[in-house]
Amino acid sequence: MKITNLHTHVLEAALAEPFAYSRAWYGTRMAMIVEIETDAGITGWGECYGPAWMTEAVVKNIAPWLIGADPLQSEVIWQDIYARFRDHGQKGLLIEGLSGIDIALWDIKGKHFGAPVHQLMGGPLRTEVQAYATGLYRRASGDPFRYLPEEAAGYVAEGFKAVKLKVGFGVAEDAAITRAVREAIGPDVALMVDANHAYDAVAAIKLGRMIEPFDIGWFEEPVPPEDLAGYRAVRSALSIPIAGGECEFTRFGFREVLTSGAMDIIQPDTCAAGGLSECKKIADMAAAFGVRYNPHVWGTGIGLAASLQLMAVLPTHTPTSLAPAHPIFEFDRTEHPIRQAILQEPIEHTGGTVRVPQGPGLGIEIDRQALTRFKAGSDAPAGRRRAPPSH
Ligand code: CA
Repeated sequence: MKITNLHTHVLEAALAEPFAYSRAWYGTRMAMIVEIETDAGITGWGECYGPAWMTEAVVKNIAPWLIGADPLQSEVIWQDIYARFRDHGQKGLLIEGLSGIDIALWDIKGKHFGAPVHQLMGGPLRTEVQAYATGLYRRASGDPFRYLPEEAAGYVAEGFKAVKLKVGFGVAEDAAITRAVREAIGPDVALMVDANHAYDAVAAIKLGRMIEPFDIGWFEEPVPPEDLAGYRAVRSALSIPIAGGECEFTRFGFREVLTSGAMDIIQPDTCAAGGLSECKKIADMAAAFGVRYNPHVWGTGIGLAASLQLMAVLPTHTPTSLAPAHPIFEFDRTEHPIRQAILQEPIEHTGGTVRVPQGPGLGIEIDRQALTRFKAGSDAPAGRRRAPPSH
């Protein structure tokens, strides 16, 4: 089998209601989809996390090396691309582009062998995963002390046993909102907080001490991703588990995170940190360090499916009093018109649990009409083409 063609699809959808986290506002959702064709008639799909127009440029520039290659040799292709760009692309956009390519190659591999990716990776250790609701962002109008507790209670009513709150809007306000959300969801639902690296270590420790009484599942990205010393300071000062890693890349990047003892939980994004091949390696490293692995997930149904395939083979966490012992799936509940539209069968939860797709490859079928419907305009004005912020 040989790769005959590679297409990129940059998708865009305007949101009915913009929302904000500590760093930026979202007014649109974008996605960058990779499609790889073969001479066997098999097509593989992947997704790149990150600014879509920029990851598209990366993938388009890598594409000529892939034509004629055997798509089953995903490890060979990964190492070849990494080695070619090692001097310039050890982190960031290059690895995000490589991630989408690697996921598409695994999709081809699964379709070729008639098996889901997790089976080819030696699984499954689990066929369904507990999910937590990612939401609780800020809105343009209304009182967050009113709408955030209401939204959180809504997730609990849907069956979620865990929710994640955005913080990073000022220590005093964060602490008060955290209390209000905890009171709304009661004592039996896990509550995590995510600052999206809004703080330095001093402010993060101050906030952490104020919210420790509210039984916080983890404190995500308290400080900037480059500041591993800051992570260690926060971690040593608080009893709350410290999470991060959605802005880190490859086994080499996570080697520093793990050896420095910076985090209790790492959150590589399968569509950014190096794809399925690399994230399995990172997960095995994390297990060796006794660090929990809960992937960051923020994309379309392709990214959801890739993450679920990986979660089926993630090592079980070291037993701990801090539940859950199994990896937990990040299920973005914010508005995303593209997320399910590109799938012929949506990936949904039942009472806070999501099944791992069982079909060949990623286990999903793509709705090509949706790719056309959401195609981002190449003549889009400069403002629309601005790269979306990381999440
Ligand atoms: Ca996050």
